[in-house]
Amino acid sequence: MARRKYVVGNWKMNGLTEALGEAGAIFAAARGHAAVDVALCPPFTLIGAMAALPEGGTVGGQDCHVQASGAFTGSVSAPMLADAGARLVIVGHSERREGYGESDGDVKAKAEAALAAGLSVILCVGEPRKVRESGDAIDYVLAQVRQSLPDGFDRSRLAIAYEPIWAIGTGLVPTIEDVAAMHGSIRAALTERIGAGAADLRLLYGGSVNGENAAELLGAGDVDGALVGGASLTAAKFLPIVEAAA
Ligand code: PGA
Repeated sequence: MARRKYVVGNWKMNGLTEALGEAGAIFAAARGHAAVDVALCPPFTLIGAMAALPEGGTVGGQDCHVQASGAFTGSVSAPMLADAGARLVIVGHSERREGYGESDGDVKAKAEAALAAGLSVILCVGEPRKVRESGDAIDYVLAQVRQSLPDGFDRSRLAIAYEPIWAIGTGLVPTIEDVAAMHGSIRAALTERIGAGAADLRLLYGGSVNGENAAELLGAGDVDGALVGGASLTAAKFLPIVEAAA
């Protein structure tokens, strides 16, 4: 099965109602690139409205709770995301792992909750700067992959995003060789775990992807798409990345 390119925007805590115009422009233009799957993950508050845009487009959440419902003030569950029109959810982003103390076990439970709710999952992994400098990045990331991977999953509904923490929002990117080496290692670890079917899983790169570097990053071995933060907030910045994937 050939892996379709996948370009996903993570709006993080950005976007008021007025930003829906950018989403509409992105979705409208994305329709012209039939070979690329495009999705936007806005804050919870915009999911329903973005999913209802007349341009149509795939919308996701940025996190979900492990429980379907209950006394968890401020949290949103995977069935609630699906109910609001989301089709996917990002789990294990480093801003959740670091800022909210989410462990690999928490990320795994969230991925399982999301899959059970019928959502697709983008599971994020990535090393801090110190680990990259110490030369242990691959071991560190493979441990995250092994420990956060859900038990039993439909390969078409799980993607892994490799996002080196030091590259997020900094304008720094790893070398193409380092990206290819990491993605190849993740693919090998997945093959060890689930066998030849690992060839179907999409591996995204994230961290300071923009219109200038996207073609090179997307051309690296085993890179099937991009998870984009800052450059996903406007059509002018995001569409060149979609075009680079096409
Ligand atoms: P960035 O963020 O593109 O702004 O570096 C990527 C991410 O955190 O997913």
